Amino acid sequence: MEILFWVLSIAVTLLLMYGLVPTVIFRIFSIGMTKRGHHHKTLALTFDDGPNRTYTPQLLDLLQQYHIKATFFIVGECANRYPEIVKRMHREGHSIGIHHVKHTSNWYMTPFAAKREINKCASIIEKLTGDKPRYYRPPWGRFNLFTLFTARPYQIVLWSGIFKDWKNEPDSTALLERLRRELHGGGIFLLHDNGATKGADPEAPANMIQALSTFLPEIVSQSYQCLRLEDHLSEFESIHEPEKRSI
Ligand SMILES: [Zn+2]
Repeated sequence: MEILFWVLSIAVTLLLMYGLVPTVIFRIFSIGMTKRGHHHKTLALTFDDGPNRTYTPQLLDLLQQYHIKATFFIVGECANRYPEIVKRMHREGHSIGIHHVKHTSNWYMTPFAAKREINKCASIIEKLTGDKPRYYRPPWGRFNLFTLFTARPYQIVLWSGIFKDWKNEPDSTALLERLRRELHGGGIFLLHDNGATKGADPEAPANMIQALSTFLPEIVSQSYQCLRLEDHLSEFESIHEPEKRSI
């Protein structure tokens, strides 16, 4: 019995050292990742876990209505199921990033398996769009000891605002308030256009789209620019900031 206890204790400790501890340390100190941009009055909307057959086209329609460009961190197997939606994202000027082929956690994968997930998802994106992806967001924001190496050459992007939009709520009022509270220049918002992930509610994206249909015209009227990550994270002073340039 005593041996079993020690074997289990060592196994749990190793698992924590491999997954949870690196995740906490990397994220607290923002090691090897980007969580926000630095431009005045710009915002990056990012959508994870799609494409979804029902909700992603609705979201794309809404973004198009307000001439907003966003970034989608897609799941490779969903992209294979709905390639036309990925092609539409690309055609309409959105950025597409890597979020693994399946929605798998880095905690339970060897570095080699994680590298395969990243590379395979990247090649699905390239096959569908003709462009190499530039950004990687690990599912659930989970790292293991080797993620900073396995992610190369892709840039890891997390978020400045997360909104629990993967859960159903009676209506979109509370989510809209949470979005308003987090609105600061340089923000990277994490939202979800697919509720098929473990722990999410399948119908939750409907609520998110409802909240955005009020939030987007509000921020546009406040002169916020919603940009793809490539533009949001650009080192150069944005051409989209006339107020600053005129000073
Ligand atoms: Zn995800």
